Amino acid sequence: MPIRNKHALFVSLALLLALPARAQNATPDQRAFRDIYKELVETNTTLSSGDCTLAASRMAARLKSAGYPDGDLHIVTAPGHPKEGGLVAVLPGSDPKAKAILLLAHLDVVEAKRKDWARDPFRFIEEDGYFYGRGTADDKAQAAIWVDMLARFKKDGFKPRRTLKMALTCGEESAPFNGARDLAERQRALIDAEFALNEGGWGRMDEKGKRVYLGINAGEKTNQNFRLEVTNPGGHSMRPVKDNAIYHLSAGLMKIGAYDFEVQNTDSSRAFFAKMGPQIGGAMGAAMTEFAKNPKNAAAAKLLASDPAYNAMLRTTCVATMLDAGHATNALPQRAGANVNCRIFPGVTPNQIKDRLTALMADPQIKITILPGRGAGGPAPKLTDTVMKPILAAAAKRWPDVPVVPMLEIGATDASHLSRAGIPTYGFTGIIFEPDGSRLHGLNERVRVRAVYDGRELLTDVVKAYVQ
Ligand SMILES: [Zn+2]
Repeated sequence: MPIRNKHALFVSLALLLALPARAQNATPDQRAFRDIYKELVETNTTLSSGDCTLAASRMAARLKSAGYPDGDLHIVTAPGHPKEGGLVAVLPGSDPKAKAILLLAHLDVVEAKRKDWARDPFRFIEEDGYFYGRGTADDKAQAAIWVDMLARFKKDGFKPRRTLKMALTCGEESAPFNGARDLAERQRALIDAEFALNEGGWGRMDEKGKRVYLGINAGEKTNQNFRLEVTNPGGHSMRPVKDNAIYHLSAGLMKIGAYDFEVQNTDSSRAFFAKMGPQIGGAMGAAMTEFAKNPKNAAAAKLLASDPAYNAMLRTTCVATMLDAGHATNALPQRAGANVNCRIFPGVTPNQIKDRLTALMADPQIKITILPGRGAGGPAPKLTDTVMKPILAAAAKRWPDVPVVPMLEIGATDASHLSRAGIPTYGFTGIIFEPDGSRLHGLNERVRVRAVYDGRELLTDVVKAYVQ
């Protein structure tokens, strides 16, 4: 193309240089997906300053331009939560007797402070084979995969037998308001389905980028926050006393930090370790095989517990995540508080954990309160052939050597709300994470470009098989 003037050349060069997010070696099809993904990551959806309703509207606009009538696109906002809206989209099936399949993902992301990150968390950046940005892994890759899939199905004239539904919701991470729970309570018919696919499961690669397993989550731990608080009359800091709110709280927290809850197991966690043992090999692999055979083997459990991800599958965990204390630099603290975040093993209640923490800290000055949360999850979904066969087939087609491993989800997701509402919900993304867990909720969140594109293709095969 002829260059009309120097100014235009300069502008286009400047634009090129300002585009760190350019797609590297992507097919036109992948670029279309990537464009949706980029728009989602660059739409801030944190609770503090973001807007899920805006993200939902943008995704609705994408689907509308792909040919969805307004009647099949539902922006859902609950009263009093104008920025915590979501989107339900419907691709009607040809068989009125066949129940729908639901694709679920959350739009909201964990807070991210620009000054702490190496790159702007709300810019979508492709660099060195990774997508960087808040939500690239949790959970905007999956949300973008669903939107792109529905758009492609419509454009391609694909007519499913079963109705295919998609729900993108807000408030999964931290908000008191939860979009998935809201849908289950107020719009149950809109999202009714035989089962749902959601975030979770993921997969793991080793340090060299070799795929170790692909996970499918069936059942998950309960995420429960506890408020610990000590109050004290305080006084002037020039006249300290030993009875200090900060010291009471700190001593209690140190005991929680040093404590390990008892080892437990479920069918899915034993299946996980049985499958993974031969894959991992070495001492860790042997410990997995041994634990799967005999979960009472303390030496095997101890070795497994040295890996934070495996440890989380063995027991309830509790960890201090936030602190607030004192009111002046020259005053004895009148109040010291902490948030302790527990991931509770299935079958154990928040009240039992509260009792355990109370006994462990053994300090009546530390008051413990159970904070509002998701509540206990629903029953663990069964690994039926309807769900599993398409997943196994799609995985075997690409990666015959990579096992598909049922697992107990160590994070907590919106699956609990839907499972409780009678929609069995599985965690399956087809996306294989780094050994560092792709820094979910952490700094410089990222996911391998190849892993996202692979996951997208895998999920397309799986969903097509479900609805055909
Ligand atoms: Zn998530």
